[in-house]
Amino acid sequence: MKNLFTTILILFSLSVFSQSNTGFNPQQIEAFNKTGELHFRFQLEDRELISKLSSVISIDDVKGNEVFAYANELEFVRFLDFGLPFEIIVGPDMNEDDFRMLHNINIDEITSWDFYPTYQAYLDMMAQFAEDYPDLCQVFSIGQSVNGRELMMAKISDNVSVREAEPQFLYTGTMHGDELVGYVLLLRMIDYLLSNYGTDPKVTNLVNNMEIWINPLANPDGTFYGGNNTVLGSRRYNANSVDLNRNYPDPEDGQHPDGNPWQPETLAFMQLAEDNNFVMSANTHSGAEVINYPWDTWAQRAADDDWWIFVGRQYVDTVHLYSPASYLDGFENGITNGYDWYSIAGGRQDYMNYFHYCREVTMELSNVKKLAASQLEAHWDWNYRSLLNYMEQCTYGVSGVVTDLNTGGPIAAKVFIDGHDIDNSFVLAEGEFGFYQRMLDEGDYDITFSAPGYFPETVQNVTIDNYSTVELNVQLSPGTLLADFLASETEIGLGTSINFFDNSYGSPVGWHWQFEGGEPAEAFVKNPSGVQYSIEGDFDVSLTVHNSAGDSSVLSKQNYIHVTNEILMHNGAIEVCSGLFYDSGGKDGNYQDDEDFTLTIAPGVDGAKMMIDFEEFNVENQSSCNYDWLKIFDGPSTSSPIIGTYCGTDSPGQVNATNPDGKLTFQFHSDYSETRPGWKASVYCGMEQTLNMGSGWNGISSVVCPIDTDLEIMFQGIIDDLIILQGDGGVFWPNENVNTLGNWDPTMAYQIKLQDDVQLNIIGTVTTNNRIDISEGWNNLPVLTTCPIAINDLVNGTNTGILFIIEVAGTEIYWPDMGINSLEQLMPGKSYYLKSEGDGSVIFPDCE
Ligand SMILES: [Zn+2]
Repeated sequence: MKNLFTTILILFSLSVFSQSNTGFNPQQIEAFNKTGELHFRFQLEDRELISKLSSVISIDDVKGNEVFAYANELEFVRFLDFGLPFEIIVGPDMNEDDFRMLHNINIDEITSWDFYPTYQAYLDMMAQFAEDYPDLCQVFSIGQSVNGRELMMAKISDNVSVREAEPQFLYTGTMHGDELVGYVLLLRMIDYLLSNYGTDPKVTNLVNNMEIWINPLANPDGTFYGGNNTVLGSRRYNANSVDLNRNYPDPEDGQHPDGNPWQPETLAFMQLAEDNNFVMSANTHSGAEVINYPWDTWAQRAADDDWWIFVGRQYVDTVHLYSPASYLDGFENGITNGYDWYSIAGGRQDYMNYFHYCREVTMELSNVKKLAASQLEAHWDWNYRSLLNYMEQCTYGVSGVVTDLNTGGPIAAKVFIDGHDIDNSFVLAEGEFGFYQRMLDEGDYDITFSAPGYFPETVQNVTIDNYSTVELNVQLSPGTLLADFLASETEIGLGTSINFFDNSYGSPVGWHWQFEGGEPAEAFVKNPSGVQYSIEGDFDVSLTVHNSAGDSSVLSKQNYIHVTNEILMHNGAIEVCSGLFYDSGGKDGNYQDDEDFTLTIAPGVDGAKMMIDFEEFNVENQSSCNYDWLKIFDGPSTSSPIIGTYCGTDSPGQVNATNPDGKLTFQFHSDYSETRPGWKASVYCGMEQTLNMGSGWNGISSVVCPIDTDLEIMFQGIIDDLIILQGDGGVFWPNENVNTLGNWDPTMAYQIKLQDDVQLNIIGTVTTNNRIDISEGWNNLPVLTTCPIAINDLVNGTNTGILFIIEVAGTEIYWPDMGINSLEQLMPGKSYYLKSEGDGSVIFPDCE
């Protein structure tokens, strides 16, 4: 049947060949007859066609517009349909003398590796490795080829019979049966590792810290197509005329991208990958000289592209120290992205990387496929250091074990880097030890460990250096529900709104949001939107979630939302004591052309003076500031004394009003062209607050935040009279050199004991936070205003019942239940005791 088909094909081919007149001769057809596959080349103007042709024939190389390919009979018929002129390639004349075959090999007696082992010799050599090094090496078959030849594997490690918590590495050679160099290089690598263990530190380190799997010959039917005693008749395909490196499931093109069933060889390697957790691997080829890194199937770069290039460069640069300059020097000096070279589907490399979270490259190690045996020694010499280096890379990066916090048992966790990993580039910890190894290019990474039934854990800022290992052991706690959330923005202008997003782990079915300072103040949907903030300050957000099993979880983010008064440049006059002052473009935008604005900013508090601190400044530059400029005046108008004219990045810095009203006037001009980001400035009111205190105990607080909050400096002027200052959680006791209070906090209330009547002047900025959280029971209450506040106004701004307010060290009292209010008002600079019915907050009203 096969002969008949071949005959028909030859006849058919004859006619096509003669039509396209591309130099067919019967000798070439004879070559096709001999190996059952044709090697040919053709010109292709349209590179887009490559991926289409890839599913028809086996493209082997692309050089510019020239495509080199293989085809079996059926593939070739389909190729002819494209009507492309082609030329059959006949290799150089070779004879058995070029392929010295050895049998009856004793590994210990090899002095020169300039031969190919016969199939039987190969089996014998593999068996001898295990016999000679039983503690280091196990040898077994992982399956049979179509024609029943063995797919041999050597496993090498210290304690080889025991699985240890160390990375597994895989080399496989010659899956294209006629690409011979890998077969011998990998056999020799087994010998090198075993015979140098214990004497060569690099080899010893690799064998001690890795589990190395080496399969020198992945397509024995192809290699021994001409019989078990010669490699001269070797061919690319397996015995079913299938290209094994197009026969794997593909990330893009599905389970059977080549249209063939999985071959026995493919199935054996798929099972191997399934049963193990290979961290890194490579498959060797020839016909080109290049390290080909992922992806082959699509143009998108791998997440770890930088790392691939780094590893590829290490391989090739090391080779170049020992090889002739002409070796491995094509492409980008010896390395290429697979897709950049030409796209293939169904390759082993992409399969391992995408479906098994491995790191596999394709190593093309000689331009000549059927490399003469006399060349093998040289190729070993050029490559073996790089082959070792490549293995060594899988001991670097970050590694450790992931275990259960309670039981210590291993967890097969996913090790994922948010914002970095794409296309399955995460890795998995293995089931037996929870061991993982993740190679990464140098840099800082936030690494997340997750597994079903456990709370995910993210380790921030793990710093990776090349050629070194970070050990990171992680414990996960079991659980099914963990509240988490995000906000669309956390820094907002007064009066704007935010959207919130549930980011909880598990499957919540109910949500309870609480937005301190927000409107609405709570919500019961998954993702609340349009929560508005109309008070300045820092606000907490909390989320309680519950699932269908009744479990619940709470997360509160303290001071998560920062609301500031945003002031944009415009024509007008405003009174404020806080906020961020921007050009007309606001936080993220540029100002416009042809602007002319004048804004006077007055202090929102009597007796204060504006202080404006420019943190960013960038307007169009001109040496005399003639194009775009900002002028600042110390007073209520542009007739007031000028402080300066600013342009370019010459920032005004800190600008303080010195005039009696404390006002500053800003005048901005932009010309007809060129806009810039403008400026950002913090707005404060500067003020002096005087605290009058009597001898003995006093309650004090300040609405002014001193320039220096260090208590020693703040109380310097009255230190001789200060006996003790106390507040929540500490005391300042200068005579005894005790300070457990820390620095002055204007949102706190203090009690002070003095020898004498004194006056303390506090110079600083006015605190604009006018809200104090209180809890059920007794609280120390500061006074956050510059003017006296009527008790009734305060009660109106409080969201919980007030039971008492009492002066510290005084007798006046507010006791609503008894109808007593001898206190009447709260005085700035003093502090009070307040008893509350529940948790809530007190808001001090503005001074009129
Ligand atoms: Zn190949």
